[in-house]
Amino acid sequence: MAEKILLIEDEEKLARFVEMELLYEGYAVEKAHNGRTGLELAENGGFDLIVLDIMLPGLNGMEVLRRIRRASDVPVIMLTARDTVMDKVTGLDGGADDYMTKPFEIEELLARIRRALRKKGTAARESLSALGLVLEVARHSAAVNGVPVELTKREFELLRFLLENKGIVFSRETLLDRVWDFDYAGDTNVVDVYIRYLRGKIDEVFGIKLIHTIRGVGYVIKDE
Ligand code: CA
Repeated sequence: MAEKILLIEDEEKLARFVEMELLYEGYAVEKAHNGRTGLELAENGGFDLIVLDIMLPGLNGMEVLRRIRRASDVPVIMLTARDTVMDKVTGLDGGADDYMTKPFEIEELLARIRRALRKKGTAARESLSALGLVLEVARHSAAVNGVPVELTKREFELLRFLLENKGIVFSRETLLDRVWDFDYAGDTNVVDVYIRYLRGKIDEVFGIKLIHTIRGVGYVIKDE
């Protein structure tokens, strides 16, 4: 079933454009052009993600977010015309999952939507495992055969992504796109560096072969 997105945005031209792009990507979309209608729709539930403009007539976006958060942890991406640190801090403190400043590239919004939906899907899952390695996603902890492994946030995210997709080979470019921030404009060598860190902490310490290199293609975790 298509994931359902609620778009609360009073600029109708922008709302229509974003709606068309979302439909094209295969999402189901509902729109609201003011805060009150948006909040009513949100409270009725059933959405996988909400895109919420801050400057709205009637009830502003911050207030809508505050009320949504009373009852729901649905991912919310805030939109604002003002690029002020204050807005960002207020939005994230208020429980927004991500934040975009207008004008934005639609591709970036789509990438952030995918990321927020992916995080939501993973948070629901309790643990991921392979070859004696167990990742407790909610607790952000890792252990091999019960022995804890200390991982940095980035190491954890990379390992989590590979574990979620066991058996699938990913190129460095794809890993960079899926695990690192979308706007990270670095060299794909950074992926090799982190794979080396993970092998140093897991494969070498515990004598297992968890992360495989597929020459000329990329990396994969195999559970055998
Ligand atoms: Ca607006």
